[in-house]
Amino acid sequence: MPERKECNVCQSIQGHLIKKGVYGNPHQDIYKCADCEHVYIAPLLDDSQEAKFYLDQYSAFLHARGGRQKCHTSGTFCRQ
Ligand SMILES: [Zn+2]
Repeated sequence: MPERKECNVCQSIQGHLIKKGVYGNPHQDIYKCADCEHVYIAPLLDDSQEAKFYLDQYSAFLHARGGRQKCHTSGTFCRQ
């Protein structure tokens, strides 16, 4: 039985899990509130977890997404 997370609009706990994982982050899931139909991510990350996720994952995500484009700068996310 998946743990149900509280809606961050109406505080209902009747959220339905609609997708596991958020942009490659397996520690968060996407829910839809049965009461107000708000779609939300849970659990929310605290600041340190969020910073760690972006530092660890986001540059790789951008690099993968832009991998077939020619890079015109020597920016942080471009390794050639
Ligand atoms: Zn709600």
